[in-house]
Amino acid sequence: MKGISILGSTGSIGCNTLKVIEHLNEFRVVALGAGRNMPKFAEQVAKFKPALVSCDNEESAETLVQELHKLKAKVPEIQLNSKGLTAVATHKDADIVVSATVGAVGFVPTLRAIEAGKRIALANKETLVMAGELMTAAAAKSGAEILPVDSEHNAIHQCLRGEKTAEVNRLILTASGGPFREKTRAEIENATREEALNHPNWKMGDKITIDSATLMNKGLEVIEARWLFGFDADRISVVVHPQSVVHSMVEMVDGSVIAQMGATDMRHAIQYALTYPERKPNCVEPLDIGKLGQLTFEEPDLDRFPCLSLAYKALEMGGTMPTALNAANEIAVQAFLDGKIGLGRIAELNEAVMDEHESRPTSTLENVLAADEWARSRAIMMLGKTASAQLRG
Ligand code: MG
Repeated sequence: MKGISILGSTGSIGCNTLKVIEHLNEFRVVALGAGRNMPKFAEQVAKFKPALVSCDNEESAETLVQELHKLKAKVPEIQLNSKGLTAVATHKDADIVVSATVGAVGFVPTLRAIEAGKRIALANKETLVMAGELMTAAAAKSGAEILPVDSEHNAIHQCLRGEKTAEVNRLILTASGGPFREKTRAEIENATREEALNHPNWKMGDKITIDSATLMNKGLEVIEARWLFGFDADRISVVVHPQSVVHSMVEMVDGSVIAQMGATDMRHAIQYALTYPERKPNCVEPLDIGKLGQLTFEEPDLDRFPCLSLAYKALEMGGTMPTALNAANEIAVQAFLDGKIGLGRIAELNEAVMDEHESRPTSTLENVLAADEWARSRAIMMLGKTASAQLRG
């Protein structure tokens, strides 16, 4: 039985991964890391019996132990914070590491797993956005495979099977367009938290759902695709496809377009990443093609969704610019979720941080971490200024 570690087991991808593991019955959970929801974490630990778990801090660990006592379950070895998460990511019995934490916390642990030569089922796109060069160089050196769990990249991975890279014209990422596809720029800028969290097709965590509403998610995915598949920005297109049936496409030099279709259920992509190169029956309802009706496609509107342009700009500028954009965006999205800023301010803040950022090469971990930290503190400072201006106003 192959061993699996999961970083971020109580999130949406983590929970779905455990469902896939249960369904397949050919993997063993060796280590789990989770930052929140200790009651749910305790249930997972009781059921899957990992040898090692990681929590964010002492307090979470104490809660976990109490919850495990309530369930009369054995308490495994517990480690804390990013060191703990790295121990989960590099556990000697893990053949596959599912990287599914939200935001930048999974970055260093995922890098260590790559260096250790593990197969990475990558759901945390921020890691490639922050440091795609570093990650892919480490993978080339250790022989680690990176299998994308993000549905678009998973689709492209499937479309590229058996194809020669030289015969590919461009990658075409589909975007649902999110809840504001038909709204005006003013309506989008003034949207409430509830409206922004109401994604039409996918059920996901809060951060990625807000990123989907601003199309920042698609921008981050363009950068992710750059590193996963080695295509420059001008050969990665985005098309809005509101039905989310076509998960992405590849255009060949002869004009043929190969598309991958499937249900909007992340378990499909997760299972593909775990069992590749094999395919196995899964537990997701298959698409009922005859009942799909119309599938539509349209160009994205960069004026209403400036975050998408910012991502292209960051990728073209290169170096740590995407790192800075990702960091600023994490701060801005959290501020929006906390009710401190409006949705329109997210793009403004991201752009302001990019304008001030001096890009450095991403070939070293130090540069990446320094850019990430700089952009975060800069974004927080800019937010502070907004808050005091609002108080005065
Ligand atoms: Mg996606």
